[in-house]
Amino acid sequence: RDKLAHALAAFDDRVEELPVDSAIEVAVATVREALTAGEIMPWFQPQARFGSGKVVGVEALARWRRPDGTMVQPSRFIPVVEREGLVDTLTDHILTHACRWKHDWDDQGLHLNLSVNVSPSTLTDAGAADRYQKIVESQGVDPGEVVLELTESSVMSDAASGLSVLARLRLKGFGLSIDDFGTGYSSLAQLSQIPFTELKIDQGFVAGARDQPRKRAVIEASLDLARKLELEVVAEGVETLDEWQMLAEMDCGMAQGYLISAPVIGTELTGVVSRWRSPEM
Ligand code: C2E
Ligand code: MG
Ligand code: MG
Ligand code: MG
Repeated sequence: RDKLAHALAAFDDRVEELPVDSAIEVAVATVREALTAGEIMPWFQPQARFGSGKVVGVEALARWRRPDGTMVQPSRFIPVVEREGLVDTLTDHILTHACRWKHDWDDQGLHLNLSVNVSPSTLTDAGAADRYQKIVESQGVDPGEVVLELTESSVMSDAASGLSVLARLRLKGFGLSIDDFGTGYSSLAQLSQIPFTELKIDQGFVAGARDQPRKRAVIEASLDLARKLELEVVAEGVETLDEWQMLAEMDCGMAQGYLISAPVIGTELTGVVSRWRSPEM
């Protein structure tokens, strides 16, 4: 409810003055139109591998640019979209356009894995695996080069029913990533049952970890678990060279964060990738 109120406040003054139910209705109609008009598109944030320093992947992040040029952050429209069954439309739309960009980069010889965030509703959607496969392949992309990210809290709230959908996605070759790891309530039993391929350490543990042994301990434990379960690891929110070096010493797999680049529009990605120099390069 708080998230929703926060989101609705971003729409316009008219929405704020309405009773909640009508406010949601107006907000949903606005987002629906924005999707149709192509105002909501993926931006991309690079992921670089420790060791080589090379950019090997990108995460697609939804961005809404309104006709007046203002940008609406996903935290302000995703809660609205999730509430009203519009989220599948958003996921399909972002996946389609992100794959189109990936195909473009492939053509230019820049081969990057693509990560896309999917909503918790995917876990109860028996048709999701077939649909995502169709979307990805229709853009000339192999599911084996696409990683679907689910937050730890969404997976664990519905582990049993989610398992069959996730297993089906894995069979089609999609990678599966646990987003915001460390902020949910997964049990080790659940974690070992779900066919994940990647774990993303939440940015909250990375920020300030150099001076906070307790945060470092959580990162170390996550890396240890990932090694034992043979998962890739991405550290989120890497902002400084100090953080890069600390994570490199801990033998973390990949980094994503402002140190490399903030999310950028598709046209800017190749420039960002060619300008990036890691400490090892
Ligand atoms: P997330 O998937 O965990 O994405 C990481 C967020 O951290 C992004 O925020 C990104 O811009 C931000 N970030 C990246 N590097 C840094 C850094 O160095 N420092 C800090 N402080 N932040 C950094 P963003 O783009 O606002 O997205 C917020 C959340 O919205 C995402 O969290 C994701 O859960 C959700 N989201 C974004 N796009 C989509 C989408 O297409 N579909 C769905 N279902 N959810 C999405
Ligand atoms: Mg943000
Ligand atoms: Mg994510
Ligand atoms: Mg995250």
